[in-house]
Amino acid sequence: MDLSRFPRLPLLDLPSPIESLDGLARHLGADLNGVRLFVKRDDLARFGLGGNKLRKLEFLLGAARAEGADTVITVGAIQSNHARLTAAAAARSGFACELFLTRSVPRSEEAYARNGNRLLDDVFGATVHELPAEADSLALAEARAEALRAIGRRVYVFPSGGSSPVGCLGYAACAGEIFAQTEAIGLALAQIVVPNGSCGTHAGLAAGLKASGHDPRLAKSYAVLETEERARAITLDKAKATLALLSADLSLTADDIHIDGAHRGPGYGIPTDGMLEAVRLLARTEGLLLDPVYSGKAFAGLLHDIRAGLYPAGTAVLFVMTGGVPGLFAYPDVMAG
Ligand SMILES: *Cc1c(COP(=O)(O)O)cnc(C)c1O
Repeated sequence: MDLSRFPRLPLLDLPSPIESLDGLARHLGADLNGVRLFVKRDDLARFGLGGNKLRKLEFLLGAARAEGADTVITVGAIQSNHARLTAAAAARSGFACELFLTRSVPRSEEAYARNGNRLLDDVFGATVHELPAEADSLALAEARAEALRAIGRRVYVFPSGGSSPVGCLGYAACAGEIFAQTEAIGLALAQIVVPNGSCGTHAGLAAGLKASGHDPRLAKSYAVLETEERARAITLDKAKATLALLSADLSLTADDIHIDGAHRGPGYGIPTDGMLEAVRLLARTEGLLLDPVYSGKAFAGLLHDIRAGLYPAGTAVLFVMTGGVPGLFAYPDVMAG
């Protein structure tokens, strides 16, 4: 898989490390059913508090720079990690940044509205437009881009989660990175597990696996935003569009997209008991932080499936730590204690 023809702005120390969860394994003992659990540390970063969106932003900001943009605009929920990392990466790379954030998650507490990612958007100097839940944030962002272009600015708009085909290239590249690392240490992975929000992380991995001759079903995601069915349709579309950038003669079908929607709970951004257990368990056995919206629910799903015996003893499973730590500060009511 040759990605060298796509402009890329380096934002990360790559490869991110792969580590085994020895403390968790000691704590869970026989409950792990002999599964060997590893994490890929995509939560580590040099700036901005890190997270999976930086892999997408390497290609998105690379394209923006190549097109001569001076301003980037994106959209998300009030506690969007993508919005926060776009603000941080834009500041670091010399772009102006505007964010269109919707109050789409039904949380009434002050911390959700003001703390966590939303606080950091201000600290990173982004111009923030807050919108009601039902607003069409992408249409408003496009209208703002037009208005800025009319006064001579050069504007690049990123969709929700940065999950355009160009953004998804970040996780296509990650698929190649994972195989380079695991083949070097003779580790044969049976599953690569990620959370699924705007579908770009899974889509990028599936495209990258296919493009490099691996089974795209090695990637599995737990849906936390869309329903399982919608997540599968959107992920397939994005994976196909990403693969089309990489190869003219490969394709993907619905069977290649492996998604579980059973751990989303009542909806996006709404805490579940499984999420709380997973966040505390990894914090208390490893000192590692999951987040309440994405990785907490996905890790809860993985723990559930391991305990249920889904994977035979000896199987190696890699969970991608996707960051999102500032989200913890937006949920003090459920996280405390
Ligand atoms: C955005 C996000 C995800 C999901 O990635 P998508 O590409 O949007 O599916 C997972 N974890 C965290 C912490 C995120 O911020």
